[in-house]
Amino acid sequence: MPEQNKMEKIVSLCKRRGFIFPDSEIYGGLANAWDYGPYGVELKNNIAAAWWKRFVRTRDDMVGLDSAIITNPKVWEASGHVANFNDPLVDCLKCKARHRGDKLLEEKIGVAEAAKIPFEQVGRKLAELKITCPSCGAASWTEARKFNLLFETNIGVVADAKNKAYLRGETAQGIFINFKNIVDTMRKKLPFGVAQIGKAFRNEITPGNFIYRTREFEQMEIEYFIEPPKQDEWKKPFEEWQAEIKKFFKDDLGIGEEHLRWRRHEDDERSFYSKDTYDVEYDFPSFGWGELMGFAYRTDYDLKQHIKYSGADLSFTGDDGKKFVPHVIEPSFGLTRTLLSVLCEAYREEDVKGEIRIVLKFRKNIAPVKIAVFPLLKNKPELVKKAREIYDRLKLACACEFDDNGNIGKRYRRQDEIGTPYCVTVDFDSLDKGDVTVRDRDTMEQERVEIDKLEGYFAEKFK
Ligand code: ATP
Repeated sequence: MPEQNKMEKIVSLCKRRGFIFPDSEIYGGLANAWDYGPYGVELKNNIAAAWWKRFVRTRDDMVGLDSAIITNPKVWEASGHVANFNDPLVDCLKCKARHRGDKLLEEKIGVAEAAKIPFEQVGRKLAELKITCPSCGAASWTEARKFNLLFETNIGVVADAKNKAYLRGETAQGIFINFKNIVDTMRKKLPFGVAQIGKAFRNEITPGNFIYRTREFEQMEIEYFIEPPKQDEWKKPFEEWQAEIKKFFKDDLGIGEEHLRWRRHEDDERSFYSKDTYDVEYDFPSFGWGELMGFAYRTDYDLKQHIKYSGADLSFTGDDGKKFVPHVIEPSFGLTRTLLSVLCEAYREEDVKGEIRIVLKFRKNIAPVKIAVFPLLKNKPELVKKAREIYDRLKLACACEFDDNGNIGKRYRRQDEIGTPYCVTVDFDSLDKGDVTVRDRDTMEQERVEIDKLEGYFAEKFK
C-alpha cells in the first residue's frame, strides 16, 4: 500500500468510525483542529492509562500532578518561553505564504545540518540552496523573523498588558513550580520524579499532518529529580529511563522497534544547559521520521531559573542537612502524537478470500473496545436476552459493545475496523449448551467457550 495513501486511509477511517472528527465541522471547520470521538477518546485514555501505570502507579519513586493551564505569566518568562520560544519564520516573496524556515532546511539538508545555521542566516540559506516554497514553487524568501509560539490571553474583562497571561506551552513547567509543594508534602527522597498529563498550546506556524502537529495537543511529561551528579553519575538513571521508555513503546503500545529510532542531538543542536538529548522518532507513513518524544538530561537549569525569577527557595535538603538544587532528567511525550503512531502501527489491509479486510491490530490492552457481544439474530428475543445478560456481565470488567445491527459479517467488519480484539456471538446452541462463539480479531479463528467461563477466559487474554 503506498504510504501516502495509508495516511489518507487512516484519516478517513478515523472519521468514518468515530475516532477523530474535524473540529467545528458544522461551521466549516477550523484548520488543524480535531475532536476525539467515542473511540478516539477511549484509545487516548488507554494510552494515557498505560503510561500512568508504567511510570507512576507501579513506581515508588514517582508521583502525579495536574497543574493549571493558565498560570502566572512569570512562569513563562522564567522558563525562557517568552523570550526564546521562537521559530524562524520566512515569507515567500512571490505568494506571501509563511513557512517555518528551519523545517524547510531540515527537509533539504537534515536536522543536524539545519541546526547549525544561525537564525539570521535562515532566509539567505533557503535561497542559496534553491529551496522552493511549498505553496507556489518560487525560491525567494524574506529574512527569518521570530514568532512567539505561546498563546496569549487576558485575565478578566479588560485587555491590557497588566492582565496578559499565556496558555501553557508545555506541561513541564507546572512540575517545576510545584517542586517545593511536592517536596514538603510527599516526604520523597531523591531520586524521585513527578509526572503530568494534560493539554498544551502552541501557536504553530505550520501545523499539519493530521494530529501530528496541532495548536492544541496533549503531553505526558516527567521531571525526574536527581542529586547533582559527580561526573557521569547521571548516565545510570538516564539509561534506566531509556530502557523503560523502550518498554513502554514496545510492550504497552505494541510499536515495532523497526519503526522507532533514537536520534541523538549533536552538540550544536542541543540546548546549552543540556548534557545529552535524544528525539525518539517514529517512521510515519507519508511524511517519514517525525519526533514522538524528547528525552534530555537538563541539569539544574529549570529549577535555577525559577529560583532566579521567583526568589523562592527550591533547594532540597539531603540526609546530611546540606542544601542543593537537584538536577533533572526529562522524558517528554506527546500523547496525541503517540496516538497517531499507534493508529499507523495498527492499520492493516488484508486480503481475505479475495476481499480486503481493514483491521486495526491494536495491542489488545489499549483497544478502545475490548469485547463486542452479538446475538446471532436481532429478531429472536431469547438470543437478544442471553446476549444482553453476557454483555451486562462482561462490561463490568472492560469496555464492551453490544451490537445487533445487520448480518454477522458486517458486524465483524465494523469491529475489525475499530480494532476490537474479541467478538462473542450468542446463537441457538448457546441456549441449549451454554456456550458461545468467541472470534479472535487477528487470527479470525473461532472457538466455543462456556458462558460461565467467559470472565476467566477474558481475564487471561487481557492480563
Ligand atoms: P517539534 O520539533 O515537532 O516542534 P518540539 O521539539 O518543539 O517538537 P517538545 O517541546 O520537546 O517538542 O515537546 C515534547 C513533545 O510534545 C514532542 O515530542 C511532541 O510529541 C509533543 N508536541 C510538541 N509540539 C506539538 C504539537 N504542536 N502538536 C502535537 N504534539 C506536539
